[in-house]
Amino acid sequence: MQRHLFDDVHEDFRASFRTFLEREVLGEQGRYGEWEREGIVPREVFARAGRGGFLGMAVPERYGGAGAEDFRFNLVIGEECQRVGVASFGLGITLHNDISLPYFLSYCTEQQRERWLAGIVSGELITAIAMTEPGIGSDLASMTTRAKRDGEHYVVNGSKTFITNGINADLIITAVKTDPTERHRGISLLVIERDMEGFERGRNLEKIGQHAQDTAELSFTDVRVPVENLLGSEGEGFLQLVSNLPQERLSIAASAIAAAEAMIDWTLDYVRERKAFGQTIGSFQASRFTLAELRGEVDIARVYIDRCAQALDAGDLTAEDAATAKWWCTDLQGTVADRCLQLFGGYGYMSEYPIARAFVDARVTRIYGGANEIMKEIVGRSLGL
Ligand SMILES: Cc1cc2nc3c(=O)[nH]c(=O)nc-3n(C[C@H](O)[C@H](O)[C@H](O)COP(=O)(O)OP(=O)(O)OC[C@H]3O[C@@H](n4cnc5c(N)ncnc54)[C@H](O)[C@@H]3O)c2cc1C
Repeated sequence: MQRHLFDDVHEDFRASFRTFLEREVLGEQGRYGEWEREGIVPREVFARAGRGGFLGMAVPERYGGAGAEDFRFNLVIGEECQRVGVASFGLGITLHNDISLPYFLSYCTEQQRERWLAGIVSGELITAIAMTEPGIGSDLASMTTRAKRDGEHYVVNGSKTFITNGINADLIITAVKTDPTERHRGISLLVIERDMEGFERGRNLEKIGQHAQDTAELSFTDVRVPVENLLGSEGEGFLQLVSNLPQERLSIAASAIAAAEAMIDWTLDYVRERKAFGQTIGSFQASRFTLAELRGEVDIARVYIDRCAQALDAGDLTAEDAATAKWWCTDLQGTVADRCLQLFGGYGYMSEYPIARAFVDARVTRIYGGANEIMKEIVGRSLGL
């Protein structure tokens, strides 16, 4: 089905991001396979992405950005990373652009903007957002990382885990309890910086997929964070999270659908060539039915995602619509990964095949950004249940 979401300017951006991926991630300078083995994307790749104009597009021009408050540019980046099978590189960038940046744009004071925005655009300041703790994930209000006010500082103690960009990050938006007697209203967001004393990174966690993505544990022992690093007001953290999570969930859902489209394309190429019993695998009715079903489901989901992107840019994407996009599209991504891999037979199980990587990379999308069960809770509650 014809898409009507993008204008020429987005397609030009897509063409230049494709060139960037080919040069800096896949070929010439890029070594995606090596990054997957090493578990991290080198920091200088973020700087190169910054030079190419692929970071912080929504940042106002006076801080070096493009002033493009248009989520379609973000979509292009997620889609192109999935198309060429570099999901774990894409995650670091989409986390930076789609998930962390909106907090800086919405809640920074002028002084904070001066300090951070240019570095976010250039890739010299890599961002992360740390909510999850070893003891809590879904139940955010029960977090225990404590920030106690002491004069012009907060003293932070606690730990976070599963943090995307956790090793590379320079600026970590950290959800802390400034009032431990409260649940949601006790949460605030503090920006913790790379070299603050008492801030340590733990292991770069070993995962079943998303191998080039650095996912880490962070620990805070009496870290003195200046009050100037508070984002917004004390006690507003939960509301800030709730208002930004729809964009995070749409970003995950959009990448999930782009991944599903890519998997279907790779599978079509494969089943047109591979032969068994004197005919191509694709010519068996079972394969045709599988691919026809997947193509239809993904095309229908694509229309919903594009509509959500328009709603986000118009400022009326609801939490429920974003939650629906997230659970539906990531479930579908999992189904597509499983059924497409099957059509590759034994080759589908070999890591050198993009379908194998896409299969393991897909599993987490049903978990992070709010587990899919929590998405259904959000939608279910809105039905008055
Ligand atoms: C690769 C990766 C990257 C991540 N990146 C980040 C990041 O950058 N920043 C960050 O803060 N976090 C990050 N996370 C954490 C992620 O958001 C959490 O893992 C997720 O929110 C689930 O929390 P949990 O793991 O504590 O599971 P739990 O909350 O313990 O849930 C376990 C299971 O119980 C279910 N469950 C929980 N409550 C309910 C309920 N009320 N009703 C029904 N079922 C329920 C859940 O759906 C889930 O299936 C990342 C995780 C991974 C794996």
